[in-house]
Amino acid sequence: MLHIDPVACVDCGACVSACPVDAILPESRLSAAQLPFIAINAAFYPDRPEGKLPVAAKLAPVLPAPRIRDGAAALTVAIIGSGPAGMYAADELLTQRGVRVNMFDKLPVPYGLVRAGVAPDHQKTKSITRLFDKISRQRGFEYYLNVEVGQHISHTELLNYHHGLLYAVGAPGDRRLEIDGMGMPGTGSATDFVAWINGQPGSTGPIAGTIEDPVVIIGNGNVALDVARILTSDPDGLAHTDISDAALKVLQHRAVREVVVAARRDPRDSAFTLPELVGLTSTANVVLAAADHELVRRDLETTDDPVTHAKLTILAGLPDAEAPAAGSRIRLAYRLTPQRIIGPGHPRRVEFIRTATTETVGLDAGLVLTSIGYRGAPVAGLPFDETAAVVPNRDGRVIDPRTAEPVRGAYVAGWIKRGPTGFIGTNKSCAMQTVATLVEDFNNGLLDDPRQPPAALETLIRARQPDLVDAAGWRAIDVAEISRGEAAGRPRVKFTSVADMLSAAATRPRPGARLGELRARLTELVSGRNQRR
Ligand code: NAP
Repeated sequence: MLHIDPVACVDCGACVSACPVDAILPESRLSAAQLPFIAINAAFYPDRPEGKLPVAAKLAPVLPAPRIRDGAAALTVAIIGSGPAGMYAADELLTQRGVRVNMFDKLPVPYGLVRAGVAPDHQKTKSITRLFDKISRQRGFEYYLNVEVGQHISHTELLNYHHGLLYAVGAPGDRRLEIDGMGMPGTGSATDFVAWINGQPGSTGPIAGTIEDPVVIIGNGNVALDVARILTSDPDGLAHTDISDAALKVLQHRAVREVVVAARRDPRDSAFTLPELVGLTSTANVVLAAADHELVRRDLETTDDPVTHAKLTILAGLPDAEAPAAGSRIRLAYRLTPQRIIGPGHPRRVEFIRTATTETVGLDAGLVLTSIGYRGAPVAGLPFDETAAVVPNRDGRVIDPRTAEPVRGAYVAGWIKRGPTGFIGTNKSCAMQTVATLVEDFNNGLLDDPRQPPAALETLIRARQPDLVDAAGWRAIDVAEISRGEAAGRPRVKFTSVADMLSAAATRPRPGARLGELRARLTELVSGRNQRR
């Protein structure tokens, strides 16, 4: 959450135009749903004598831009993973003259979790792709999409063509909840659900056929709120987003009247963030049971952190769950530690222990989704820390835990570096730190010059992966998806299979085709003029 000091701000408006997702607005332009942000913003800054500026709080570190030493060879870096961390790293590298970035992704389409993880009704958040489009059009940037590093080309081979490899592969799995009953039809993970509604190739989602009411979501992070909101929102509204057609069809036939978001700790420990809570409570019917209201009141008295206080204030104002409900609703519930899911064959109930007691609490359930976080996966050719599920590193430089020495030429950024926390923007400072480390090593002569010429890379990759998708191929997919959505008033209708993506990529203009077209047109014009003469 970004706070702007109402006293220190000089109203120059520079942040308004700079924000890539239009998240900063003048007070006068806030929608009714956004009005709570005025009080939240003001409350963040303590009262102080007039004219006194506050001590800066919680600012992202501003790192100096990396400077490549004069006279060095052109720095060439492969980035593996084209999500936010990879794109921000590319942007930071390309601030330096002569740098080449080859961006790899195993899918034919870029942008990682912005495409596959951000909820389809959050199109404003997804508009960060406009910035990524700009980054990818910079001189020195090349796409190698539909290429899996570790399968089509190994880490060692790729290093022959680059000074360094920067892995920004995210956390592709989810944390598993090992309780009885998980795995039966009607149970699954919220991360699979999100991939499914986003039309991620190969994702079938945890839902077969219709959704059975009520839904219990275990965990209360932002992913849990996204899923609860989508399950209870009006399908007609969703039909104007880029949600997958398969998911939309199921949601149109759903009968979800209640989603319970069950947290194991207290209201003050809620993992969701303040802006997401404001967004949820302004669009959905969110309720709290009397016992949980009691916990909120107690937490409010003992909390002095302004953001937590703001969250609790919103929770305190929620209607009682005991009141009769009209329409779908979301109940936020606390102090529920999951024990088992009771069938048979399909969930009927989830059994919890009231946290820190021996009391058993049962909740009716037709669908159970765990939303307890993402999990990183090992990267071929690199060490892996199984406990933290990250690649061990210092400031982004990969470290071999056996020797405590850096792994020459290997770097990480984003969730595979620091674990699955933070927002899209968090990856900017994270990627900048890694790039600073990489450039420092380059300047200190710690990176080997590529042994192969740059042009040889494309030849090798095309031989191993004839279905390589380049920038023109991705643009052809992008244009095709957007035009499929136009008729229905949707931002895009995504291709949900790799085969369909590749068919669209194949319609890209062939290299030289534009030149051929212009030549033909010129010949036509010249011959027309000659005939008239
Ligand atoms: P998260 O924020 O880490 O939340 C995980 C939740 O699972 C917490 O409530 C946690 O409770 C609970 N949990 C963990 N282990 C559990 C267990 N064994 N039993 C019961 N509960 C358990 O994860 P997330 O929601 O997947 O989000 C991942 C990251 O993406 C976060 O940084 C999030 O903010 C970000 N994200 C942001 C947005 C957005 O900005 N719009 C949207 C989606 C995701 P405890 O706190 O008790 O451990």
